Amino acid sequence: MAYTLESFMERIVAKNPAEPEFHQAVSEVAASVIPILPRHPEFVKEKVLERVCEPERVIMFRVPWVDDKGEVQVNRGFRIEMNSAIGPYKGGLRFHPSVYLGILKFLAFEQVFKNALTTVPIGAGKGGADFDPKGKSDLEVMRFCQAFMAELFRHIGARTDVPAGDIGVGGREIGFMFGMYKKLRNEFVGVLTGKGLNWGGSLIRPEATGYGAVYFAEEMLKTRKESLKGKTCLVSASGNVAQYTVEKINQLGGKAITLSDSNGFIVDRDGVDAEKLAFVMELKNVKRGRIKDYADKYKCEYHEGTGVWHVTGAQCAFPSATQNEVLKADAEALVKNGVYVVSEGANMPSEPAAVDVFIEKKILYGPGKAANAGGVATSGLEMSQNAGHTQWTREEVDTKLHNIMIAIHKNCFETANKYGTPGNYVNGANIAGFLKIAYAMLDQGVV
Ligand code: NAP
Repeated sequence: MAYTLESFMERIVAKNPAEPEFHQAVSEVAASVIPILPRHPEFVKEKVLERVCEPERVIMFRVPWVDDKGEVQVNRGFRIEMNSAIGPYKGGLRFHPSVYLGILKFLAFEQVFKNALTTVPIGAGKGGADFDPKGKSDLEVMRFCQAFMAELFRHIGARTDVPAGDIGVGGREIGFMFGMYKKLRNEFVGVLTGKGLNWGGSLIRPEATGYGAVYFAEEMLKTRKESLKGKTCLVSASGNVAQYTVEKINQLGGKAITLSDSNGFIVDRDGVDAEKLAFVMELKNVKRGRIKDYADKYKCEYHEGTGVWHVTGAQCAFPSATQNEVLKADAEALVKNGVYVVSEGANMPSEPAAVDVFIEKKILYGPGKAANAGGVATSGLEMSQNAGHTQWTREEVDTKLHNIMIAIHKNCFETANKYGTPGNYVNGANIAGFLKIAYAMLDQGVV
């Protein structure tokens, strides 16, 4: 053994103080990878794991802007350019008040392995700002996005770094940022993904993360000769990922009975059908209202707080909100209540003790870096279409996305088997993603 997980993590924590989410993400990958290092002395010699944990570049900048009252506001912007071994930096931008260096480094780190799994040639990055779009007018959001891009534009490019959306960054924000990039650079290129359909966007990109998480669940179920048909599902959040998770669950014959936001959650035993989902999309994407309005309209249960994982009567769960939304007690409640499929649309939504529960109980647990990789994979497909000055049909992109999710599942499943932990998709995803990056880094020398 080259080193232990404990000694490796001591060095990571000392070097990156006060970044608990980054420590958590690194620790999870290191726990899978360190045991395989004796089989790969070349990675130890070339310090590949150490290099993977160090961002290639971190950019932090001031974002000053003026609100509707004429007051100056100051936010902090970031871009973490984590790893370019297999392609240009690629990963979303998050606008949320909780954003700081540690959260974006965890997300950029996860992105390294996720993007390696997609089969698409994309490196890894992540960025964002501690800006809260909630309660802001469209004009305020536009001024913020323009101020953000007024600095970011000099660091990104269609062959260098291609950001996308994440929490708080959807079609509206991508549009404002693209407009500013184009004005500053005087070039119309695919520098962002998640663009509008009539100016370079890809069909299925908005749907891709949610659809992908459901395709991944379906693949896991197939290993037990089952399917989603007739299954009841718990879904958290009501944003982009949650909405299209529900749409695909419905298409495959399942039933989603919950949705949530940061205030509370609804339980609709009849299921969130297509008509109710259209209401949610209008509520969240246009009116920017709260999920409680759903309960008021459809007269179903509404509860304040975060108890969505304690709702009974489901077999599948799709965490689609944010990091560490599934605590150990939630995981225990899920398993106790009969849930045996967890497919993570969100990034790192289960805390380590919750993951331990899933692994120990041998449920079908698809970690975010595999299960939600469909979003970034389809961003990669958007880049291909932009580069080829073409646009594929909805069916073409959906078929490619579906095949990518099948391939990711197969890779994780087979890698877990090969390295002696059958059924453990955490090990499968971490090891398969690491191997692809590690070999590329070896080929490219010490850079
Ligand atoms: P979004 O459209 O902005 O929606 C976020 C949802 O999560 C909202 O319902 C929000 O509720 C809820 N939420 C956020 N922070 C929360 C918190 N601290 N506690 C409780 N609820 C919270 O974002 P999204 O794109 O769907 O992203 C959701 C997750 O998927 C994130 O973990 C993201 O990193 C991951 N992901 C997204 C993509 C993508 O393509 N968009 C790809 C891969 C992974 P409020 O409105 O009340 O805040």
